Amino acid sequence: MSAFTYQQDQLYVENVSLTELAETHGTPLYVYSKSAIEQQFDAYQQGLGGHDGLICFAVKANSNLAVLNCLAKRGAGFDIVSQGELERVIAAGGDASKIVFSGVAKQAKEMERALELGIHCFNVESDEELDRLNDVAAKLNVKAPVSFRVNPDVDAQTHPYISTGLRENKFGIDIRTVKATYQRAAQMSHINVVGMDCHIGSQLLEAQPFEDAIDRLLTLVDELSAIGINLKHIDMGGGIGVKYSEDDIEPNVTQYIQKLVNHLKSRNLALVLEPGRSIVANAGVLVSRVEYLKDNGEHHFAIIDGGMNDLIRPALYQAWMEIKPVQPRSDGKEAYWDFVGPICETGDFLGKNRKMSLKSGDLIAVMSAGAYSFVMASNYNTRGRPAEILVSDREAKVVRQREQLSDLWALESLGE
Ligand SMILES: *Cc1c(COP(=O)(O)O)cnc(C)c1O
Repeated sequence: MSAFTYQQDQLYVENVSLTELAETHGTPLYVYSKSAIEQQFDAYQQGLGGHDGLICFAVKANSNLAVLNCLAKRGAGFDIVSQGELERVIAAGGDASKIVFSGVAKQAKEMERALELGIHCFNVESDEELDRLNDVAAKLNVKAPVSFRVNPDVDAQTHPYISTGLRENKFGIDIRTVKATYQRAAQMSHINVVGMDCHIGSQLLEAQPFEDAIDRLLTLVDELSAIGINLKHIDMGGGIGVKYSEDDIEPNVTQYIQKLVNHLKSRNLALVLEPGRSIVANAGVLVSRVEYLKDNGEHHFAIIDGGMNDLIRPALYQAWMEIKPVQPRSDGKEAYWDFVGPICETGDFLGKNRKMSLKSGDLIAVMSAGAYSFVMASNYNTRGRPAEILVSDREAKVVRQREQLSDLWALESLGE
C-alpha cells in the first residue's frame, strides 16, 4: 500500500495534504511517510522469520535523524560508511552494537571511534585495511570484529545491471584470494574474524543474482570451516530495487529474504542485510511548484522551483522518477512537459516528456524521492537545501529546517 494517495482529488501523504504542507513550509520540500518506512523495514524482519539476523539500514540512502530514530526504535541496525554517519546514528538513538562499518577508505581515527563505541563489525575491503585495523585495535587493547567483503564476481552476462560485484571494480577482495586473507587475519592478535559480506549492486529487481552470490559465499564459508575458521554471520549487503515506474515490477522484499534464508537452513549462520533504497525510496516525495510555463517551438517547459541541486538523480544517473500533479486539473494547458529547474545547467531537469494539464503556480510531486535524494542535495547556485517533513497519520513534523541564506556562507570569510 502506497502512503501517497489521492483523497478528494488531492495528493496526500498518509492523512496530510501535500498542498497544506507546501503552503506552510514552502517549496521545494521533501516529505516522508513514517508508516511507509516502518512497513518496508517490517517486510525485511518478516523475511527473516525466526532465523537469526540483523537488518542494518544503509544510512547513506537517507540520513535524517528522524528517519534513523524511527528505524532504531523498530530494532534496526545500521550500515555506515563514515564517522559522520556513525555519529549520526548515535545522535539518533541507534545502538552501536548493531552497526556494520562499510567503505573502502576507513581512516585510523574512524576505526578508533568505532572500536570505542563497540560496533558489531568492520566490513574490511583490503589487506592493508586489515593491518591498519589490527594496529588501531592493539593501541586500544581490544579485538576488532571483522568480516571481509568478498567480490563474488557474479557473471555480468547473466546480470548486466550488476555494477559492484565484478572483479574490475574497486570494491571488495577477489574471491580467489580472500582465503589467504582470512588465514592471516585468524593469526592476528587484535582481530576477531566473525563474518563474510558482499554487496553486488543496486536496484536489482530479481532475486537470482543474490542467490547466485550467496551460494558462492557459502562455498567459501565451508572451505574456511574446514581449516578451523568458523564464521558467525554472512552479510548480503543491500541492493534490492524498488518500483520507480509503471514498467518496473514491484519486488517482494519478504520473499527475497525468505529465499536467502532458505540457503542458510541447517547452518548456524546469522543473516545480516544492508538495505537502503528499498526501505526509504517509496516513502518520500519532493514537492515543487511550477513557476512558469514556456514553449520553445516543439518543446514545452514547466519551470519549477526544485532543481538538480535538490534532487540530482535524473541529471546524474538519467534516473526516471514519476511526477504527479498534487491537485490534478483538466482546465490547464495540456502538453508533454519537460520539468526543468532554476539551475544554470542544461542537465537540470527532474523529468521529461510528461503528459499533464498544468497552470503556473501548480504543485507537482516527484515520487520515490526518499532514497539518494536529500542526501545528495547541494548548495549549487547558492540555494539553501529544502526542509524535510516526516508525516505520521495526521501529524507532520519538520525534521530538518530549510537552510537560511546566511547559513550558506557562514563558514566563509572575506579573505582580507
Ligand atoms: C550502497 C550500499 C548499500 C545500500 O544499497 P541499496 O541499493 O540502497 O540497498 C548497502 N551496502 C553497501 C556496502 C553499499 O555500498
